[in-house]
Amino acid sequence: NTAQSRKKKPVLKFSNQPRSAADVIARREIIKRQRESLPIASVKERLVQEVKNHDILIIVGETGSGKTTQLPQFLYNAGFCPDGKVIGITQPRRVAAVTVAKRVAEECGVELGQKVGYSIRFDDNTSSSTRIKYMTDGLLLREALLDPYLSRYSVIIVDEAHERTVHTDVLLGLLKNVQRARVKSVNDHAIVNNKKASNSITNENGKGAECTTFLKQCQRKFPPLKLIIMSASLDARLFSEYFGGARAVHVEGRQHHVDVFYTLHAETDYVDAALITIFQIHLEEGPGDILVFLTGQEEIEGVERLVQEQLLKLPEERQKLLTVPIFSSLPSEKQMRAFMPAPAGYRKVILATNIAETSVTIPGIKFVIDPGFVKARSYDPVKGMESLIIIPTSKAQALQRSGRAGREGPGKCFRLYPESEFEKLEDSTKPEIKRCNLSNVILQLKALGIDDIIGFDFLEKPSRAAIQKSLEQLFLLGALTDDCKLSDPVGHQMARLPLDPIYSKALILASQFNCLEEMLIAVSMLSVESIFYNPREKSAEAKTAKKCFASPDGDHLTLINVYRAADELLQKRRMELGTEKNEKYIKGKNEKIVRKWCKENFINSRSLKHACDIHRLFTPFVPPFFLFSLSQIRGHVEQMGLPISSCGDDTLQFRRCLAASFFLNAALKQPEGTYRALASGQVVQIHPTSVLHQSKLECVIFDELVQTNQKYIRNTTRIDYLWLTELAPHYYAMQDLAKFVAVLSSGCGLGRGVGGHEECSFYCQASQKAKV
Ligand code: ADP
Ligand code: MG
Repeated sequence: NTAQSRKKKPVLKFSNQPRSAADVIARREIIKRQRESLPIASVKERLVQEVKNHDILIIVGETGSGKTTQLPQFLYNAGFCPDGKVIGITQPRRVAAVTVAKRVAEECGVELGQKVGYSIRFDDNTSSSTRIKYMTDGLLLREALLDPYLSRYSVIIVDEAHERTVHTDVLLGLLKNVQRARVKSVNDHAIVNNKKASNSITNENGKGAECTTFLKQCQRKFPPLKLIIMSASLDARLFSEYFGGARAVHVEGRQHHVDVFYTLHAETDYVDAALITIFQIHLEEGPGDILVFLTGQEEIEGVERLVQEQLLKLPEERQKLLTVPIFSSLPSEKQMRAFMPAPAGYRKVILATNIAETSVTIPGIKFVIDPGFVKARSYDPVKGMESLIIIPTSKAQALQRSGRAGREGPGKCFRLYPESEFEKLEDSTKPEIKRCNLSNVILQLKALGIDDIIGFDFLEKPSRAAIQKSLEQLFLLGALTDDCKLSDPVGHQMARLPLDPIYSKALILASQFNCLEEMLIAVSMLSVESIFYNPREKSAEAKTAKKCFASPDGDHLTLINVYRAADELLQKRRMELGTEKNEKYIKGKNEKIVRKWCKENFINSRSLKHACDIHRLFTPFVPPFFLFSLSQIRGHVEQMGLPISSCGDDTLQFRRCLAASFFLNAALKQPEGTYRALASGQVVQIHPTSVLHQSKLECVIFDELVQTNQKYIRNTTRIDYLWLTELAPHYYAMQDLAKFVAVLSSGCGLGRGVGGHEECSFYCQASQKAKV
């Protein structure tokens, strides 16, 4: 009776959501037809043959031709997964790995996580029956640490290679080695097991039918690794040359004409320009969805709100515009909305990061709005400073973006800059390896036994300065020994954790400071996008709400307060609900309660949930199919034998631990109120979102340095500067730091030889020690 009387909440039904058995059959039929009409379908046999004939193959094909979703299925059906071996497909982006895996699972008519699955950091959705596995390039790199031959895989497809992420670049070098090592292991196996075979193999002429048969047997048992590099850029030469003139094939795409429009003048505010263009299209153009390229989550959420506000001002019949965001940290069920057709009569406007450039193909797009910007990493090896900056796209990116409008028919692309600006763009994007901090990658290479980093066979070498700076940073964190080998145990421990080296160091040290419990929470909360939600129109209320959690000691403890408050709320509810209700009911109820609580407290519930998921992974549970899963950080920590305990209210220990691990990110107050980052000597300010923003503390450590119009340090915590000399004496010599503080407080400013980067004397000491 209660069930009957419970009012059904209206839900927005998407037209292709299967509702009945007949719908399911109809949907299968649609998918089948879609697949058959993809350009790649007509060259299926040829592609499979090419993979059979070549151990390394480069496939170039326009976005949307069906490479990512179809090729793994072709190979699976052609028997490329003998003896439970797996076809692995890497993606530079988490979203792509998830959405594509979902799509392919649906195409195959299987449950996600069975035959088709995905695995990304902190989220493993595979099982022992998975044969087609989508994953991020970074994750495969980590897997190599556990299984250097990548022996579970028969085929590895490095997708989106043109993106040239640092992980893709390193992976290519590594896979080259793996492939060689696997061929060698076949030969070695043959040598050990058959003398005759060994003769022919060592002579490298393979004479004698018997030996050849035997070698073939060995090869069947240890098949060579098939390596496929896929790229949307038409220039395959670089990859081909890198793999010794490997074979490259081209898959024709279908591209309709796209009219490109430019603005007459430069726009000062591209967000505003994008908003105007969205409505211009909506009100003046015929049907077709709109794709807008923005630079990140915050911008996307901002535009989404603005569109919704503007919509309300239109007459009701013109309000049929549906915004759909898509970016990496969006929960996957929400990401899938981008792929669903809008309800009849509605127009969809997809607000995307450059994920929609080539990684995922969204059907139905007829209009593209391209402000011409992208968020990119940038690294200054001299200062050792990494930052995220918004830069103009390259010509190649602009072309890819406009191409998205012409997939299904003629389209239009609106570039929000004048045509003269287009000519000034770079031809292609600089590979990430040339503009990022390499510490993480170097740590992993070292853990793989590759000690000569400068001599590593990179597709394109990073600068020597960047390599040296990163080695130096690792040395200072205690991950490397004097002769640049991975230190035992710290270096090995750090390499095992799928985290930034400084976070790993903080976790390792935390057990000594009796605050590992707290550090696990802090690291989880720092690993997600902004926890605090600060809408412009309710800024004052948001600020007041934040005060309830604020710790006078800084943002790290504030984040822990938020986490604990949410946790406490859940514990209390759990007690209230008692044991008679089932788990699913409790979970549903709890989610609702947390969401409400988040709303009241101006907390970003999506980010908090993500942080909880990560933290939950820190808590022990035995993953059903893997003995050792990559996402189980707590498992790693426990296996390392680090005791997990809490410092309780004694937050001093926690802050000292931060000082001991984040000492490279310390900043001292200057007389005029700004701060000076000690390692790089830069003048910085505490970010306005920090609880320490207006405080006048002498010394803080920070999580990151971001550069917008100003240089800001984000997520700061108060420390005592004397702790630096006590806890990081190899970096901060007492007398130098004291002199530095004296000069700062005398207000004479800084000259060379005292502070600042090249000028920073206590800093150079340590770097000289690191023989690189
Ligand atoms: P490529 O890798 O060559 O760029 P994909 O294999 O990603 O191409 O996409 C092939 C086709 O599959 C595209 O037409 C796209 O519209 C469709 N597709 C991909 N993912 C999804 C999805 N999640 N939902 C619906 N269609 C999808
Ligand atoms: Mg693709």
